Amino acid sequence: MRIFAAALAATICLIGTADAANVYPIDRATILAGSAFDFKVEFAGVVKPEEVSITINGEPAANILGKDYAFIAKEEGVDASAVLLRAAKVVKPGQYTVEVKAGNDTKTVHWDVYGTPDTPKAKNIIFFLGDGMSVAHRTGARLLSKGMTEGKANGRLAMDDLDYMAFIGTSSTNAIATDSANTMSAHMTGHKTAVNALGVYADRTKDPLDDPRVENITEALARTGRKSVGIVTTAEVEDATPAAVVAHTRLRDRKAEIVEMMFALKPEVVLGGGSAYFLPKSTPGSKRKDDKDFIKSFTESGYTLATDAAALQAAGQANAGKILGLFHTGNMDSVLDRKFLKKGTVDKFPDQPGLVDMTKVALAQLAKNPDGFFLMVEGATIDKMSHPLDWDRALYDTIEFDQALRVAMDFAKDHPDTLVIATPDHTHGVSIIGTIDDDKPGEDMREKVGVYAAAGFPNYTDTDGDGYPDKVDVSRRLAVFANNFPDYYETWRPKLNGPFDPAIKNEKGEYVANAAYKDVPGAVLRIGNIPRSTDTAVHAVDDGILQASGPGAEAFKGYMEESDVYRVLVDAFALAPAQK
Ligand SMILES: [Zn+2]
Repeated sequence: MRIFAAALAATICLIGTADAANVYPIDRATILAGSAFDFKVEFAGVVKPEEVSITINGEPAANILGKDYAFIAKEEGVDASAVLLRAAKVVKPGQYTVEVKAGNDTKTVHWDVYGTPDTPKAKNIIFFLGDGMSVAHRTGARLLSKGMTEGKANGRLAMDDLDYMAFIGTSSTNAIATDSANTMSAHMTGHKTAVNALGVYADRTKDPLDDPRVENITEALARTGRKSVGIVTTAEVEDATPAAVVAHTRLRDRKAEIVEMMFALKPEVVLGGGSAYFLPKSTPGSKRKDDKDFIKSFTESGYTLATDAAALQAAGQANAGKILGLFHTGNMDSVLDRKFLKKGTVDKFPDQPGLVDMTKVALAQLAKNPDGFFLMVEGATIDKMSHPLDWDRALYDTIEFDQALRVAMDFAKDHPDTLVIATPDHTHGVSIIGTIDDDKPGEDMREKVGVYAAAGFPNYTDTDGDGYPDKVDVSRRLAVFANNFPDYYETWRPKLNGPFDPAIKNEKGEYVANAAYKDVPGAVLRIGNIPRSTDTAVHAVDDGILQASGPGAEAFKGYMEESDVYRVLVDAFALAPAQK
């Protein structure tokens, strides 16, 4: 009956209002009880304050939100009024109906405010985020790492043994398609948002730093207890995925501000690339536009700084309070470049730690906190190499991600009060269709693609047992293809001289096939199927597959919205127990 009434109300609302107000948090928002969020109403036009009526479950809004909102007669750059209340909170779990009126402008939204059990299920959560990791990445990593005999895998990935599984819907509030900002933000806040946004709803004003905020997990943990937070990535630490653990901005590329937000929250362990945004503009290589020196700020706040693998080991052993590891000015190199080919930027940054070592140091450090921790580990390069169609690098990095996950799963074996999750943020449009066999006759590479029975099995070997093929350019290798691409030359081969750069900009500003690959023997031009303004392959709308083990993991099942993952995290930590 309640549902029927709500549906009826929604219908009436739709009929009555062509240009209704926007309300944040949006309709069907799920909100952690007691969490701070900004409440904002954007009216369609200029209204008078005395016209405005906002009730929540029939009561004046302030009764429910804890404080009264401010009226804004005219928003910056917009010919319309708004109301805004920063850091509102709803303490009591339940269903809330927000009714907004200003003259003819009306809007009704529903919120689901949820509590948690009184006692935590887990002391620690280790959240593994395989950026862009799709089914093909996992299948490919298993084939490369373990091999296959007569149709059965010769071994299992670490993620193959996580107990529970769910399909995750990754879409954003403004499109079915998605990026790493809004997707990871959903994981880390419990709210879906717009493409490029982190920890905020995207409002209509221009300023990318004023949007209505929602609480992220780092803030929730700081508000409710004394757990430590760790952030580990192979990308810049201020890149979208790690940023979602700490930041609030409409635009993920506000990286200088994201570093400031990270400093404000001071996670105990921060490891990755991206030092260019920590350095003042006077330092060569800096990408800041101000004189702030965040290396200095962090170290003066008790962080031990590590800039290469050796220093990271030393920092881990020094029993330092907090660790800041910045191993690259930008994104770290792929494991295929770091460990094997020594290409990319490995000559400039020869001693970058891998994801396995970073995970080990982070876990050892965070485990010192008797109150427990939240650790986010991102395999960023899976995505960074999937965009330019460099499938060998993407698959090697999936193997590295899985080896780091193994470290976490071993930790959880010794610490059974640990929830371990492995999930993508979004997927890529990629598939494995068979093999490419150099020994098939002729020069035409297309005829060397083995499909169905002609695919046979690839001939990678791993004689040293490190989990990676001994060499990537074997004679019968995986045939991996994307379903979307700019114009590019398909070379049918691993790129041994550095990451693939499939398309470059022409005089008209359109991306065209990079002629540098034209003369690779057998290369063929593939005409793209995405807009010419797009330089690399794009994310897929396909669901992600999340897996998990440990206390609380049984909540992952069936299909879930990405924002509902957060609910499992805060439930495991019991961040909103019933108010006594
Ligand atoms: Zn991406």
